[in-house]
Amino acid sequence: MAEKTEVEMLKEKLFNKKENGWINTKQKENIFVYSKGYIDFMNKSKTEREIIKSSKEIAESKGFKDIKEFNTLKTGDKVYFINREKSMYLAVIGKNSIEDGVNIIGAHADSPRLDLKPNPLYEDSEFAYFKTHYYGGIKKYQWTTIPLSIHGVVVKKDGEKVEINIGENEEDPIFTITDLLPHLAQDQMEKKLKNGIDGEDLNLLIGSIPYSEGVPEAVKLNILDILNKKYGITEVDFLSSELELVPAMKCRSMGFDESLIAGYGQDDKICVYAELTALVDMQEVPNRTAVCIISDKEEIGSMGNTGMESHMFDTFMAEILNKLGVNRPNLLDQVFSKSKMLSADVDAGFDPIYANVSERNNAGYLGRGISLNKYTGARGKSGASDANAEFVAEVRNVFEKNDIKYQITELGKVDVGGGGTIAYILANKGIDVIDCGVPVLSMHSPYEVTSKFDLYEAYKGYKAFWNA
Ligand code: MN
Ligand code: MN
Repeated sequence: MAEKTEVEMLKEKLFNKKENGWINTKQKENIFVYSKGYIDFMNKSKTEREIIKSSKEIAESKGFKDIKEFNTLKTGDKVYFINREKSMYLAVIGKNSIEDGVNIIGAHADSPRLDLKPNPLYEDSEFAYFKTHYYGGIKKYQWTTIPLSIHGVVVKKDGEKVEINIGENEEDPIFTITDLLPHLAQDQMEKKLKNGIDGEDLNLLIGSIPYSEGVPEAVKLNILDILNKKYGITEVDFLSSELELVPAMKCRSMGFDESLIAGYGQDDKICVYAELTALVDMQEVPNRTAVCIISDKEEIGSMGNTGMESHMFDTFMAEILNKLGVNRPNLLDQVFSKSKMLSADVDAGFDPIYANVSERNNAGYLGRGISLNKYTGARGKSGASDANAEFVAEVRNVFEKNDIKYQITELGKVDVGGGGTIAYILANKGIDVIDCGVPVLSMHSPYEVTSKFDLYEAYKGYKAFWNA
């Protein structure tokens, strides 16, 4: 090989190298094996309740126990707490005093979808339908003419809970929302994209056989008869149900080189999987207590008692302080003020087809590793939690020492749009927080795309942060 010129050497020393992570990686086999585990996890868990169920299984198989089972806690104990089947906190008690702060990584398990309305069932022109109300930021036209499955629970008034999951197995029927044929869509095609499909037109087609001749609403009756025989429910039971429509498409390996992953709900289940496996795979007890958050309701503003804005997380942390026998007034606030956090949420990946929304120097690229957003927000950083430079330096140092590929990015061009995560909620408690996740293409669509390389770097990066 030819000697490097002085200019080349100077460039190497001074430039921030941004390179494709696949080049020179020795980890390709590990990346592919790890990604297979992620794809399997995704195919078992499409809703927040299913994610919590799968996460509990993984945690328990690695020795984590419900914090209720402990009267006292000590170094090395592995605990979890599940909040109403929808959010979960886990911790490994570290060697250092908890009063020096903890290291937190937090992701969210909820993803954009269509929820059933409380009175969903109706019949029109001998078709039966479910009315829906979309959850989170979606482009409505993307949710018609795709196979959808129904997941969730119906809780009867006596508290009996009926679990529903239909449309995932090959033998199951699927459901879909129809759209207009192009031949008759002249008016629709003139509309703005955002108005092309009305929210009230996202009605799920669920059947067409009448129960008997000459009865009004005979198709609706037949559907209720089927549901009654199959699940033991009647129409009024929908009032106390949470039923979610999600794409009935499998998460799969993508591309001739199989470098990518396509699947529903990767925002933010990809970070949930990376943080959870990083936590349970840790070989040694960390110095600082490692805390893992799987939150709910991020896509609609983190409100409610399963969202990050709820005090449930503080209650969990206070419970740890109680069971360590150290708690006293104001201690939790002091612990938070010395704590550090990676807010593990996905980033908008640079898409060359839509390059004009990104600023190339500050965009997140698929295949370049974990993506750090110093701040999010929109239009002048409004609403952002802007990570302190000192903390960014600390995180950089951890990643560089552990050979983790990372990029520091912004979500889109200035004034084009923006977004938010749970970062500010934890930062408001006094914690040092930075957003740190995986770049995604087609975010919030029924079929999001990520890079296996970035997923694996997130896993390694999260582990390194907890081990630091
Ligand atoms: Mn997200
Ligand atoms: Mn999102």
